Amino acid sequence: MANGPKAELLRAIPSVERLLGDPSIVGLADSLPRWIVVDAVRDVLAETRQAITEGRVAKAPEPDDLAKQVGVKARILSQRGIRRVINATGVVIHTNLGRSILAEAAIAAVKEVARSYSSLEFDLVEGTRTSRTATIDALVSRVAGSEDGFAVNNNAAALLLALNTLAFGKQSIVSRGELVEIGGSFRLPDVMEKSGTELVEVGTTNRTRLEDYEAAITQATAVILKVHHSNFAMTGYVESPSRRELADLAHGHGLVLVEDLGSGALVDLSTMGISREPMPEDCIADGADVVTFSGDKLLGGPQAGLIVGKRSAIEKMKLNPLARALRLDKMTLAALEETLRLYLEPANLPQMIPTLRMLACPLGDLEHRAGRAAETLAPKLGKAFKVGVARSTSQVGGGSLPLADLETSVVSLEASEHSADEIIDILRRCEVPIIARIVEGRVYIDFRTVQPSEDDLLTRQVTTAFAGGGIIRWEGRPG
Ligand SMILES: *Cc1c(COP(=O)(O)O)cnc(C)c1O
Repeated sequence: MANGPKAELLRAIPSVERLLGDPSIVGLADSLPRWIVVDAVRDVLAETRQAITEGRVAKAPEPDDLAKQVGVKARILSQRGIRRVINATGVVIHTNLGRSILAEAAIAAVKEVARSYSSLEFDLVEGTRTSRTATIDALVSRVAGSEDGFAVNNNAAALLLALNTLAFGKQSIVSRGELVEIGGSFRLPDVMEKSGTELVEVGTTNRTRLEDYEAAITQATAVILKVHHSNFAMTGYVESPSRRELADLAHGHGLVLVEDLGSGALVDLSTMGISREPMPEDCIADGADVVTFSGDKLLGGPQAGLIVGKRSAIEKMKLNPLARALRLDKMTLAALEETLRLYLEPANLPQMIPTLRMLACPLGDLEHRAGRAAETLAPKLGKAFKVGVARSTSQVGGGSLPLADLETSVVSLEASEHSADEIIDILRRCEVPIIARIVEGRVYIDFRTVQPSEDDLLTRQVTTAFAGGGIIRWEGRPG
């Protein structure tokens, strides 16, 4: 090893074995799995070595300091990557936070089939093998008023399967105004091209006429594709043909009209005071041959892609080998079936499905809960904090109803000693992480997406984080 101050410092770093023998780390190994403690020791030593090499530290690492870092690192490593959080963002269908939370009946069904063997592909009446989606296919067809139905892994998969089945090696016509990006810089046209169809773009971003579609039809055309503007809105000088006109055009030329609906509400949301979204049954009634939509957006179920429409088209999709690669697992199927069953009894629907319950929650209820939380927090947090209740707007999210702003009630937090960004960081590092948002320099805790059963946990955690004597500070970052 070279000589010089850096080499000297590097030589002062203890070995993995020696640090593992430090009394406080031996204690840590009593409560945590050994692999986690060993990984934490290795990570901390590697980071220390790097910091010295890059000249970021100028003195030898203290054993106590290293042990403390190992403790923090080990606690981060001991937590599951995917775990519970409190969604205080006010975004109801939050893709990064798991979109929809499930109805109680769906959760019970997941547990049951996870714990036991199940009738996944077994017909208990006939005693024969059957399709794993048979029940779902019938349920979703019934709810959407279609001839047949099918379910795959998500809506992107549904679209992939539809185009691969109906337009492989052929052309699909789509408006330039409907070639959308759906988040995570995931562009639908890229997914569609992977189906093996050639996308033929027509019209312009803001205006596409029926004649544009008509002029693009050739011997090679198989599909006319319509994509719902679920995550953006276009207003002003815009034009596009109605679904009925597109269906007539398609059918007049022996083509299939496929519609990617995106969020796919199965109830009329205007009955809950939100603007009406097109429903799969509307598309079917207007003549669409195949309609695809997500299971975990406005439907409020698990991640899935649902397909409804003409039997002739859907039967081919079920026989496509890709269907095997895109198939759903038993836990999702159980949750999806229970969720769809709830739609057959619409009277209590908003109460049974959390996504709908949050969307329909009256402002008065939210004000009451935010008010109570603020009253609890204000005296505990003391003078260094300004705790208030404010009006704000929640969002539907998940690329659904981009223009629907939902009036909501929030607890707003400001602190003399912390920036809003610091408060957000500290809330996120609570034992059950609280994910909030910043509006004009204040932290907003939006009660629309906090579950009522979480209110007490939320106020307790905020109190502990800021007023419990010590603010929880992690030096490291998870992941
Ligand atoms: C959300 C969305 C998708 C993707 O659905 P996933 O279920 O997330 O795969 C596709 N198209 C549109 C229009 C969407 O809104």
